[in-house]
Amino acid sequence: MIEDKQIHILLIEDEPEVRMSYEDMFSFLGHSVSSAENGQLGLQKIQQKQYDIVITDLNMPVMDGLETLRRIKKYDKNIEVIVITGFATIENAIKAMKQGAFDYITKPVSIDHVKIILNKCVQKIRDKRENEQLKDLNRELKTLNELKDKFISITNHEIRTPLSVIKGYLELLDMELDARDGEEIEEYINIINNTLDETLETIESMSELSNFGQNSFKDNTTLLNVNEFLNEIFQENRLLFSKREIELNLEMDHEPLYVSVSPKRMRQAIRELLQNALKFTPEGGKVTVSCKNIDLKDKIFISIEDTGIGIPSDKLELIFEPFYEVQNIMNHSSSKTAFMGGGMGVGLSLAKEIIESSGGEIHVESEEKKGSVFTIVLTKVSESELAEKSVNHKSESRT
Ligand code: ADP
Repeated sequence: MIEDKQIHILLIEDEPEVRMSYEDMFSFLGHSVSSAENGQLGLQKIQQKQYDIVITDLNMPVMDGLETLRRIKKYDKNIEVIVITGFATIENAIKAMKQGAFDYITKPVSIDHVKIILNKCVQKIRDKRENEQLKDLNRELKTLNELKDKFISITNHEIRTPLSVIKGYLELLDMELDARDGEEIEEYINIINNTLDETLETIESMSELSNFGQNSFKDNTTLLNVNEFLNEIFQENRLLFSKREIELNLEMDHEPLYVSVSPKRMRQAIRELLQNALKFTPEGGKVTVSCKNIDLKDKIFISIEDTGIGIPSDKLELIFEPFYEVQNIMNHSSSKTAFMGGGMGVGLSLAKEIIESSGGEIHVESEEKKGSVFTIVLTKVSESELAEKSVNHKSESRT
């Protein structure tokens, strides 16, 4: 529904009694009214608060009404200005209209006349607001529609490809079984199994998306030794990287560092970053995982740095949006580990959600054709907390 916000009026009039009587009149008509005793003070108020309508006398000391009008329009052309003038200075009212005033009210001011002019002005403002809100809604709808098209096209591509692989190998299996030659069957079953695992993973990431914003990534938070954790991940991935002829390094301080996170989720986040580093780094490249506790302060920086294709600077914000991919998805290789391998554009949004719901941050720096660095910032568990937790842990395990 389109919002109908209150209209704020600023009244500029130098004579206190007249000002008070106008204020009463405009408030009586149901509007929020503030006042100022001259143009200069009026302009100061406009800079401090958003007004929709300014009603100003033309004949005033310090700054006359025409100059006030000119400055208001220069500051914000959307503020509607209504001028109040005596019959003797009607030509000034006409000048004001030429300078962009909405209308003029003649003295002595009658409440019926004011009502008609104010209603017209309020209607104009409401129409304009409604128009802006409709434009915003339209833009949102367009983005949602584009996202929907992209989602359909990505799922179509990412799920259709592995399913076709499975179908192809099942046909081969069928032929092999007919020929009763068991030699190739084991290899085909392996391929079918791997492809099914990858497809299930894809479907899993899609369903994870629906958990966003529900704190469901905070499950099973425990004390985690970052050094051991990264070492495990490093050992698990070494072979995968060496198969692609990419050097994988791990750099860490010797002193063990602890964080309080869900190990399962953090592993998932780092896995997404490592998988991207692998996918977007050509053969012969290098990926370095590092963990630093700069100046021994309370932050731990886990970086995954690659020498890959990099990301254009205008796309750096967008890559954390679900389903966003810099490259055209039709150019994907079907394997998730091959250079420029396929994905759904959800890995980074998933990683960001996990890291932020663990109280951390993720940042990226990148240069096209040089490489990218993704850095996770987590809060270190302090020595005192560590001692307390391990005491609790011991007493819990005794009971
Ligand atoms: P995807 O499933 O496509 O990998 P992500 O959300 O993980 O989805 O990443 C979104 C996009 O960000 C990728 O498609 C890619 O264009 C870009 N990207 C992510 N990581 C890297 C990287 N290390 N090097 C270059 N581009 C990257």
